[in-house]
This record gives sequence, structure tokens and C-alpha cells, in this order.
Amino acid sequence: MKTEFLKIDPEDFSEEALDLPARLIAGGKLVAFPTETVYGLGASALDDAAVKRIYEAKGRPSFNPLIIHIASPGEADRYAVTDGRYRALAEAFMPGPLTVVMPYRGGVAPSVTAGLSTIAVRCPVHPVARALIRRAGVPIAAPSANLSGKPSTTTADHVLHDLGGKIPCIIDGGPASVGLESTIVKLSPDGENLLLRPGGITLEMLRGVLGEVAVSDAVLHPPAPGARPESPGMLLKHYAPDAPLYLVRSDKREKVDLFLKKAAQDRENAVLCFAGSVPPAPNVYYLGNAEKEEEEAKNLFALLRLSDRDGIRRIYAPLPDAAGIGLALQNRMLRAAAFRIKEI
Ligand code: AMP
Ligand code: MG
Repeated sequence: MKTEFLKIDPEDFSEEALDLPARLIAGGKLVAFPTETVYGLGASALDDAAVKRIYEAKGRPSFNPLIIHIASPGEADRYAVTDGRYRALAEAFMPGPLTVVMPYRGGVAPSVTAGLSTIAVRCPVHPVARALIRRAGVPIAAPSANLSGKPSTTTADHVLHDLGGKIPCIIDGGPASVGLESTIVKLSPDGENLLLRPGGITLEMLRGVLGEVAVSDAVLHPPAPGARPESPGMLLKHYAPDAPLYLVRSDKREKVDLFLKKAAQDRENAVLCFAGSVPPAPNVYYLGNAEKEEEEAKNLFALLRLSDRDGIRRIYAPLPDAAGIGLALQNRMLRAAAFRIKEI
């Protein structure tokens, strides 16, 4: 299949420029598109055959439900049973990198919810994503636009690498600004609020609006053998490079830096670290400045892809602190490492 690669400047474009991808979506085809979190692989959420193509193109297990993307927060009422908590979250954080799981009302194709009684809804803030949803005239079901199990894509070139030839269109709207998938919070009818996946909207920010928010065990712990995770995407291993990733932890930052410095001397190792902690070398990749976790979040997936190259047999990275967006980083890195931690 020929893949159309469509470059759009998110700061300056007209909606007509999205005619081709909007028509493809409305006609049941797949389009990869930019969002502020990661690139999405979209299909009409109303068309079951189209949604099934997403699972096929990604090699995604069919028990893992999809998030629907809407053009404005109010559209959630059509598909979900919303309440005051949703409206408060919408007021504070939407459009933006937040997904809300609520009781399912009906109206989307069965493959979207994978048989669950709940539905996950998000309204992205990326102007190209919103314009595409509006112009297609349907909610767009979309997971991250990567092969299942691989790091999520934060640039259109990553998407081309994973899905080129398999889908008819990729929209290049520049690199993702958050770089990690959306925060997912589940609002239960009994009043419980549960963080299923941390992201750019932090736990602290959610608590500021909702009061109590519990954290799913799945966020920082591997699933118990045989257990069915609350968010079916929270598998043991996910976002994983081909070479094994090891997370280095110590009570002292200097010890971690020293370990990484030594590891970098072996050119079969790749080292992901903060600027300044390990001298530059072809096998050393900088996540950014240690004080700026947003930078780290933005770079993580791209660096996991870069470091995963010929001749690299092991990847080492420091385990980040769990405060703020660090919780999301830790969650992604633990899964990318399949929970391999090196205590020093
Ligand atoms: P992705 O779009 O690849 O970032 O994955 C979507 C995530 O949302 C996966 O972890 C899914 O398991 C999760 N998800 C989607 N719908 C639901 C739902 N109804 N309840 C809980 N988690 C969901
Ligand atoms: Mg994904």
C-alpha cells in the first residue's frame, strides 16, 4: 500500500488541507495523526471494520480497548455517562492530555470498548488533531501509532518506520510536545477516582480538582500472574526496545552517575542519562536536564528508539523520582525495562 505523507504546519494551516485524511477516516480507512501526547493511529469510532484495521495494523491484542477522541469535551455525553467530576476535569484540563474512563452509554463500534462496560474519552489540544476530528465528522478511535509493544511514536518519521506501507496516510505535524501518552483516570459511579495511567496531567493536578484520587497498583507494579489489569494496556512489558533496558537505582545520585559512566565505556552498552552526568560518546544519549522532567518525558521514547541499534546489547538508564510527571516517566520506563531494576 502506498502511504501518503502529508506535512502540515500546526501553527498555520487551513482545514481544507486535511481533506484527504478526513475523507479517509470517514470512509473507514486508517490515518496516523499528531497529538500533543504521541502520534495516534486513527479510525472512525463508529465503523467496526475500520476499528478492526487498527488492531491488525499494530498487531494489538483485541482485548485492549481504544480511547475515542472528540473535538470538544461536551461531545462525551453522547457516548459516556458523565457527571460533575467529568465537567470539573473538562473545565480544568480539556482540551489536553487527559483521558477519562466512564460508564459506557452506547453509540460506538463494539471493537472500540473491547466488550467493557466503560469507555475512555479524550479531547486532544493539538490543533491538527482537533481539526481532523471536526472535518471527519466522527469521533476517532486511536491508540498510539506504533507496532504493539514498541515505544510509542513521537514523530511522523517514527510512524513511517513502524507503519509505512501498512496505512494510507500519515500526517506530519511536528514532534509531540508532551511525548508520553495521556493520563488516564477512571471515574466510577460509586464515587471512586482511580489513576490508571500517569501522564502529562499529574496526580497532584488531578487531586487538586477531584480531591481523593487512588493510584492503580498497575502504575508502578507488575501485574500479579494471571491477574486481569484494570487498564488492559498495563501489561508487564510494553514500550520496549529490542535490547534489554535496565533501570539503575541507588540512594545516592552520584553512585548512579558513576555506574552509568562505567557502563558507557563498553560500546555494547547504550546509556540514557541526564546532561552533564556522563561525558558525550556515540553510545550516550541525553534525556535532557535533570531538573526539567518535562524534557525527559518528551525525549524518552525517541531515545529508546535511537539507542536500540545494531551492536547495542544492553541499555542502562536511571530510575526517575516518582513526583510530578516523574510518576509517568517511571511507569513507562519500568514497563520498557520489563521491571528489570539494578540496585547499586
Ligand atoms: P493507547 O491508546 O495505546 O495509549 O492505549 C490506550 C489505553 O487506554 C490502554 O492502556 C487501554 O487499556 C486503556 N483503556 C482504553 N479504554 C479503557 C477502558 N474503558 N477502561 C480502562 N482502560 C481503558
Ligand atoms: Mg500504545
